Amino acid sequence: MSMQTPLVSVVAPVFNEEDGIAEFYERTTNAMETITPPVRHELVFVNDGSVDGSLDVLRKIASTDRRARVVDLSRNFGHQLAITSGIDNATGDAVVVIDADLQDPPEVIADMVQKWRDGFKVVYGVRTQRAGENRFKLWTAKTFYRVLNRLSDTPLPVDSGDFRLMDRKVVDALCELREENRYIRGMVSWIGFSQTALEYARDPRYAGETKYTMRKMVKFAVDGITSFSEKPLRVSIQMGLITCFISLFLALVIVAGKVLEPTSALPGYASLMVVVLFFGGVQLLSIGLLGEYVGRIYRESKRRPLYFVAERLNFSSDEGDANEVGGDSDDDRDGDGR
Ligand code: UDP
Ligand code: MG
Repeated sequence: MSMQTPLVSVVAPVFNEEDGIAEFYERTTNAMETITPPVRHELVFVNDGSVDGSLDVLRKIASTDRRARVVDLSRNFGHQLAITSGIDNATGDAVVVIDADLQDPPEVIADMVQKWRDGFKVVYGVRTQRAGENRFKLWTAKTFYRVLNRLSDTPLPVDSGDFRLMDRKVVDALCELREENRYIRGMVSWIGFSQTALEYARDPRYAGETKYTMRKMVKFAVDGITSFSEKPLRVSIQMGLITCFISLFLALVIVAGKVLEPTSALPGYASLMVVVLFFGGVQLLSIGLLGEYVGRIYRESKRRPLYFVAERLNFSSDEGDANEVGGDSDDDRDGDGR
């Protein structure tokens, strides 16, 4: 950590946020400049393949403020990978990840920095309230975090998003985890170091609407579960064992019945159908589940770069080299001395 004024990076993923970024930039810059004792800051905007005017707005901001850097990805890679590229490109002594839609109030960063100065290596935001989100989202989110926590071997903070501050040590550790199915909030928790929660009220979006479609949400949930738990795989073993015992028991009952009363006929078309269909379903589900894990192994085994950068703005070392995987930044770590 630099001696006097630490550098704090603020990483913000941007996907079609043209109406909100200017306001985000103003509020965040203001919030960072009023932190006491003062910190230096840089903003790392990641343009995650926006198809609206977001990149133009970012260019304009970057042209007037050297502290605003832009990583322009070659296409839409999704929230988690956008965050990853931003973290890879951040040079600060601490890195804050925040959504660009102003749902996470930038003013809260001051409190995070304070806790970091108190010695914590990770300060993660916990939402006490979520304004402006529909009941379905609230309910699914709540249920998901609780189910995941049940399943996971790593304790994962409940009701915590990706709004968090991480010390350089944690960031370096995180940069070493190059898995493709990323559930970053879980990965940070898995890394360890001293972590603490900071409660805050989540605001409604400043502009636009959520970029998390139902499909993205489901993928995200499955990523979270499969990368932090192997328990679903064990469920089929348990179900298999239980049904084996039940069928053994039923077989004995039937044999005993035949022995005691040889002329009896056992009725049961309906019950037979139900049992056959039920286990057909269970088997397909288990195979599908297995497929989820196998598919992930397959994707990981290709070891592809996580993302590609089309262009980088306001990075002193290079200007606009493609096929840049980011990560092992040998470029200036201690800021560009602005
Ligand atoms: N985002 C992104 N890529 C995506 C989807 C979202 O970079 O594919 C960004 C988005 O611009 C926002 C943040 O990730 O800054 C959180 O997304 P959003 O607000 O849509 O999610 P929600 O808050 O509704 O869960
Ligand atoms: Mg949002």
